[in-house]
Amino acid sequence: MSVVSKPMFMNERQRKFREGYIGAISPFYNGIVHIGVMYLVGISAIYYCASQLVAPGWAWLTIIPVAIAGNFVEWGMHFFVMHRLIDKFALRAIYDRHTRQHHQYFTDNDYTIDTTQEFRIVFFPWRVLIVLGIFGTLFGYIAAKIFNPNVGYILYITMVGHYLLYETFHFCCHVKENWFVRNLPFVNTIRRHHAAHHNLGIMMHKNMNLTFPIADWALGTSDVKRSLLGTLFNGFDETHIDPKLKPIIKKFQDSHVQEEKVTLEGPILSSDEQQILRA
Ligand SMILES: [Zn+2]
Ligand SMILES: [Zn+2]
Repeated sequence: MSVVSKPMFMNERQRKFREGYIGAISPFYNGIVHIGVMYLVGISAIYYCASQLVAPGWAWLTIIPVAIAGNFVEWGMHFFVMHRLIDKFALRAIYDRHTRQHHQYFTDNDYTIDTTQEFRIVFFPWRVLIVLGIFGTLFGYIAAKIFNPNVGYILYITMVGHYLLYETFHFCCHVKENWFVRNLPFVNTIRRHHAAHHNLGIMMHKNMNLTFPIADWALGTSDVKRSLLGTLFNGFDETHIDPKLKPIIKKFQDSHVQEEKVTLEGPILSSDEQQILRA
């Protein structure tokens, strides 16, 4: 049955992980404060930069290359940092939080949340926005020197806007199904795309985008095989899923396989499966 319309089913393994994770959340954690501050700071930064623009005109074109580059950075961070252990302090923490926690908490059997306390496992910590703000300022400053201040501010707006879109889209992937996530173009596409990414068999190789699956399409890591437009507007459609992936996806939805062949570092794959996933 399709990953987006089947009823959620949590097995023992996932249930135990969730119990442990929720039990360890600090009593001082508040999900609304967590995301409230993130959106307030992000939107204020965008508002400030927009208020500094003076007749930007052609400078608005800055959005196009920056957004496309951002899409590939999003893919690269997810593929090479969040799913490949780099044993250096901050990078290891990112891997830990994503592969060892986020992907154990959510699988394609059950990828939804029930409470605002669970925002902790869905949204990045504040330090990610701070790091992004620092890089945005640096790149914005360089762009302002090379071109003009408008370009610098628009670059910054695009970077922070992309981040807020990432968090919002990812949130839409993990809420309970509703009319909005089922029908809104792009949101429905990313919800199915990301639910498929949470399959414990393909999670280390497929569907790395979280906003628009452009880099996944370009780099051949989308689970659906169709044109760029088809991929972007795929919605909940599952008819174009690569037939070679289907046996792997099905296998890793099984509780016994998960018990035996899934570790905190991802699935234990046969060499045939690895070959298919790397193709
Ligand atoms: Zn997720
Ligand atoms: Zn992932």
